[in-house]
Amino acid sequence: MTDGSWLLLKGDPDRVRVPGTTEIPGHRQRVSRIRCPRCAWEPGRNDLWMCLCLHIWNTFDTRGVCPGCGRKWAETQCLRCAQWSPHDDWYDDERDSSA
Ligand SMILES: [Zn+2]
Ligand SMILES: [Zn+2]
Repeated sequence: MTDGSWLLLKGDPDRVRVPGTTEIPGHRQRVSRIRCPRCAWEPGRNDLWMCLCLHIWNTFDTRGVCPGCGRKWAETQCLRCAQWSPHDDWYDDERDSSA
C-alpha cells in the first residue's frame, strides 16, 4: 500500500530552485533588472538604505517608499558610486515602461 503524500513533497520543482538563479532569460514575462544608471552597479537583496527617519530597508522592495514613515524617495543613492539617480531609472525594464 502506497502513501501518496510523499509525491507532493517531491513533485514541486518551484520549491527547489537554488537561490540566486532567478535571472532566467525568457522565463518570466516581465524581466526587470535593477542597476545604477551611472555605474551599472546591481544592488542585491542584502543591500540596505537608510531613511531620514532612520528606518533601514531595501528601497527596491518598496519602489523607494520608506516603510517606516511612508516617505517616497524620488531619487536613490548608489551605494557604490554615491551618485543620486531617479528611482525609476534604476529599473532596467526590457519593455518600454515610460507610460
Ligand atoms: Zn522613513
Ligand atoms: Zn552607481
